[in-house]
Amino acid sequence: MTTETRTAAAVSPADIENGRRAYELDRAHVFHSWQAQALFEPMTVLAASGSHVWDGKGNRLIDLSSQLVNTNIGHQHPAVVAAIQEQAGRLCTIAPQHVNDMRSEAARLVSELTPQGLDTVFFTNGGADANEHAIRMARLHTGRQKVLSAYRSYHGGTQLAVNVTGDPRRFANDYFGEGVVHFMPAYTYRSYFGSTTEEEESERALRHLEDMILLEGPQNIAALILETIPGTAGIYLPPPGYLAGVRELTRRHGIVLIADEVMAGFGRSGAWFAFDHWDLTPDLITFAKGINSGYVPLGGVVISDEIAATFDERAYPGGLTYSGHPLACAAAVATITAMREEGMIENAARLGREVIGPRLREIAERHPSVGEVRGIGCFWAVELVKNRETREPLAPYGGSSPAMTELTKALKDGGVLPFVNFNRVHVVPPLNIADDDLLAGLAVLDEAL
Ligand code: PLP
Repeated sequence: MTTETRTAAAVSPADIENGRRAYELDRAHVFHSWQAQALFEPMTVLAASGSHVWDGKGNRLIDLSSQLVNTNIGHQHPAVVAAIQEQAGRLCTIAPQHVNDMRSEAARLVSELTPQGLDTVFFTNGGADANEHAIRMARLHTGRQKVLSAYRSYHGGTQLAVNVTGDPRRFANDYFGEGVVHFMPAYTYRSYFGSTTEEEESERALRHLEDMILLEGPQNIAALILETIPGTAGIYLPPPGYLAGVRELTRRHGIVLIADEVMAGFGRSGAWFAFDHWDLTPDLITFAKGINSGYVPLGGVVISDEIAATFDERAYPGGLTYSGHPLACAAAVATITAMREEGMIENAARLGREVIGPRLREIAERHPSVGEVRGIGCFWAVELVKNRETREPLAPYGGSSPAMTELTKALKDGGVLPFVNFNRVHVVPPLNIADDDLLAGLAVLDEAL
């Protein structure tokens, strides 16, 4: 399916007027995430369809961001919209203690996609609370308290999730989450270990992790939480052997391995889960975003049979009013079904292999500001530098720069909605974006650079 089959009607002058009023009300009454409220100039979105959004002036933009890397099936997929409408007509809400057909079916579909031995799903409202609950489960299961987590990672904006986060969003929110210890991830382009090859990086990062475990006392460590492919932190792929090594270390020391697949999961990397590329079987998997493309908020934890058994005879001390919300679960069932029927996972893999990767590498050859291009499926980062030799970033870690601000503006002016973070442009389109739209968007990036 291409985006053209569901392109929205052109935006009317009345829509534009409505958007103008919405903007005024927004600035007067809406408090935005992660922003200095008075300095923020949000973009109005009047409509969205497939891989396109229409801004407040009625301009059509190609969405290379998938919003916050969540609209994996694009905007307004007709089958998902119909499923939500149908469910709304039947049953809008039901408390989590009651059985609901859509929740049961969504849980069955998710457990069908995850490795054997991970068969139970606890639904949450999004990714941060999924990580909070995964850590709680690991602590209760092991009777231990500490949590190991990587620098250059993001795990969500609630208190414990932001404490385990390893990026600057933690700085102003860090009330010293008890027992949270950060380690250096494997990141070959900016190796902390002085590695020059992927193999070296994998080996050295694992030696560092083993030291960290021994120094912190394995008997105290409940969990290690890891984005299989770190997303907002830079889309850097684990080098060969790294995830297998992490699995071996955590298993040897009785540490619960939590794979945070909130951004990388549900097809983003060209596989259902990013860990599928490396044959990893975690103990807990957290998900959100792509499960239903954010049409209705939903996240969750997939629990190993062993950890689930901890709560067979002992109540799990936690819950949410909207756990397994029927509208969200109906959207999830329709999303997973559409992804399967339309071959979106295979398409994401093809786009990465045949379109995004080759095209970005060509762009890198032409522009000396491109330090590295890396990614897989529909999950790519272009890391920009002042100097290729020194690899000095084009914007500082945690900040911006006039060059990055100008680049972002040039992308929007050229008709692309980008995902820009520090010194990186992420190319993260919907998995079913039409090849022509993708190529047009990449041409705008080329021009903007
Ligand atoms: N984990 C990862 C890897 C994420 O990318 C995000 C959000 O970007 C989260 C957790 C938090 O998810 P949410 O914003 O739904 O709470």
